[in-house]
Parts: sequence; structure tokens; C-alpha cells
Amino acid sequence: MNFHMSQSNGFMKALKCRECGREYPLGATHVCEFDFGPLEVAYDYERIRQNLTREKICSRPQNMWRYRELLPIAGEPTVGAKVGYTPLIKADRLAARLGIRELWVKNDAVNYPTLSFKDRVVSVALSRSVELGFKTVACASTGNLANSVAANAAAAGLHCYVFIPSDLEQGKVVNSLVYGANVVGIRGHYDEVNRLCAEIAGKYGWAFVNVNMRPYYAEGSKSMGFEIQEQMGWRIPEHTVVCMASGSLLTKIHKSYQEFSKLGLVQNNGWKIHGAQATGCSPITTAQKAGLDFFKPVKPNTIAKSLAIGTPADGFYALKVMKETGGHGEDVTDDEIREGIRLLAETEGIFAETAGGVTVGVAKKLIAQGKIPSDSSAVLCITGNGLKTLEAMVGHCGESRVIKPSLREFETLLASDQAEVVSSR
Ligand SMILES: *Cc1c(COP(=O)(O)O)cnc(C)c1O
Ligand SMILES: [Zn+2]
Repeated sequence: MNFHMSQSNGFMKALKCRECGREYPLGATHVCEFDFGPLEVAYDYERIRQNLTREKICSRPQNMWRYRELLPIAGEPTVGAKVGYTPLIKADRLAARLGIRELWVKNDAVNYPTLSFKDRVVSVALSRSVELGFKTVACASTGNLANSVAANAAAAGLHCYVFIPSDLEQGKVVNSLVYGANVVGIRGHYDEVNRLCAEIAGKYGWAFVNVNMRPYYAEGSKSMGFEIQEQMGWRIPEHTVVCMASGSLLTKIHKSYQEFSKLGLVQNNGWKIHGAQATGCSPITTAQKAGLDFFKPVKPNTIAKSLAIGTPADGFYALKVMKETGGHGEDVTDDEIREGIRLLAETEGIFAETAGGVTVGVAKKLIAQGKIPSDSSAVLCITGNGLKTLEAMVGHCGESRVIKPSLREFETLLASDQAEVVSSR
């Protein structure tokens, strides 16, 4: 194993404990030996400031690696070189329905190659794993991460094990198996899957993207925030709504805003970051609403399986970001999640998975409560594709009407539709 290898590109400096600030070499490790605090990648921002300008970013190909100085790999990306730069959509029709002046949708439902924001984190984690000499990669996943690790490992010729709760949606399971990954279903919740994976990672020395490679993995999420700022015309949105599983994405979007403003690429505008969860698994938003700094672990029970983490690793830091920015937390029921999915689909033509329904549903609530003022501007982070969680919507958006291949039958159907339109006027 090449744990001693810690070559740097000169922009990343070390792994640093978020609690005590102790520094560690840039290897495959994720907790501080002294206080078990999580390790995070530290950068030389002075050097980055001298190297990274708007012009330089704009001159590069449209993928997440255009911000490479702020991503933790030493050389060229070897995995996921084409990931990112997903569309930012001005969502006027949804804005009108939610009652807000200006609304944007960052659409990672069409991220390449596996249709969720997880391609961003995997691209970084696997590129770094290759740099550190690993041949086998693995993850503990609620579904989308498994899909992305399996696909990207296949394309890079890496051995791959993915561990998931055994009751995931079929789309998520097939989407891992098809790439030839070793898929292990665990009879238990994600938190039990994760605990098992921590043991396996220690014993076998594999690169677990969200265990021993977590500091690198997590940094990949920043690219979603970098893109939002660039695509808004080098501005930070006033309000950003992010759905939370472990809470990592939310903290990294905040970090991306901090980094761009610190580097002078955008102006600090006093942004607010809001967190969204499903009521059936809402440890973080429940704590936020109660004004607490710590969450209480829960047993998940929700259709938003991609967000079903009862003991969120970054929950504490997500609460801190909401508090520091003046953001709020809110949660939505399974029915409200389905309503959110339909609302986004019907107004903007975007089919999001259950996590997207959570984001839209929570945005609707926060706007109605005035916590996101109706005269402000907001970005909704849509993180995954609805085709992977079809079960959640089957029987909840009507049925197709079946007729014989006959013009007469069609005209009868059309006439009854028109009668309905007239009577509903
Ligand atoms: C993993 C995931 C998230 C959030 O993950 P964090 O652990 O909070 O970073 C959000 N949406 C989808 C669809 C996901 O798969
Ligand atoms: Zn420490």
C-alpha cells in the first residue's frame, strides 16, 4: 500500500483536523489521531490567488476540472475528466408557482456519467486513489454513490466493491450491477452499512471513497458551488437550498462561496444556505428548528432513500453553516416530496429523484414562511435523476389511457378531454 505517497500539486498543502488544526500528510486517512475530528484538505490560497483568474477558468473546457487549483489531486484527473458543468436553469415558471422573484435550478440530474451530483465527488476520490496507488475502490452508499463508483471504476479499470442497504430502488441496484461491480446488499440501514465499511477499509486497505478517502471525496462537492457562481455571472446567490444526507454537500457549497469570495472572484453578499431533509429522516433539520447545535440520531423511514442517513457525519458542521449564514432547515413528508417532484417536472420539464422533491418541497415551505423572502433570488440544488427512483412515482402521477389504433377512439378521447376543459372553466 502506498500510504506514504502524498505528492502535492503545490496548491493543496496538507490534511488538517477541523477540530484541533493538527496537520497530516496528504494520504488516505480521514480522522485526527488525537481527537477523532474529521480531516479536511488545506490549500495555499495565496498561491491559488496568483494562478486562478476568471479568464483562466473561462479558457478551460466546460467540466468541473476548470477549477482544478481548488480540487485535491496532484496531477491530471485520470477518472471522471468530463464530469460537471451541468445546466443552471432560470426557472421562471416554478418561481411563479412558489411566489419568488428570481429562481434558478442547478440541474445535476443530468450530471455525467451516472446522473447525480455524486459523479463530482467520485471523480476526485478515484483520481486521488489512483495517484495514491490503490487498485481496489469501494464505498458505503445510499445508491447514487454506488452507481457512480461502479461506473467510473469500470471506465478506469479499477476493481470495485460497493456496499448498499439491501432495500434500495431497483434502478439504483441495476445501475451498479451493470458495470460489473461487486455489489453487496446489507440487511440494515445506511448507518450499519457505513460502520461495516469502516471495518473493511481498515482491514483490507482499499480506497473507500467516503471513508478513508473522504477528505478528497468531499472536496469534489465544491465544484457544484463553483459552477453556480460562474453561471450566475460571477455572483453568489442570495439563497441556496441544498438537500442533506450526511450534510457534506451543504457545507462544501458554503466553502465554495467562501473560497471564490476570498480569492476575489466574486463579491461577498452575505449569502444564506438552507438545508432540506425528508421528515422521515430529519436529524439535522429537526435540530436546526429546535435551535440546537447537535442532532439526535434517528432511524430513517422515507421514500427519499438517497438522503436516508440517520447519523449524518457532517450534521454538526451543516448546522453550523446554517446558523452562521442565517439559513434555515425544513423537512417534508413523502407526499410533499412527490408533490415537489411533480411541480418541478410540470413547470420546468426536469424529472428529479426523491431528493429533488425534498429540495423543491422545502423551498416552497421556506418561501411560504417568509424565511426566503418573495422579493429575493434563490438557487435550488437538484442532485439526482427521477428515472432512478421510479417506484416513488408509480401510481402517483396518473395512468396513460389505452385505446385501439383507431382515429374514432382517439377523437372520442379528445372530445371528453375538451368537455372537461370547458366544464372546468
Ligand atoms: C448523496 C446525495 C445527496 C447529499 O449528500 P451529502 O451526504 O449530504 O453530501 C443529495 N442528493 C442526492 C441525490 C444524493 O445521492
Ligand atoms: Zn484533531
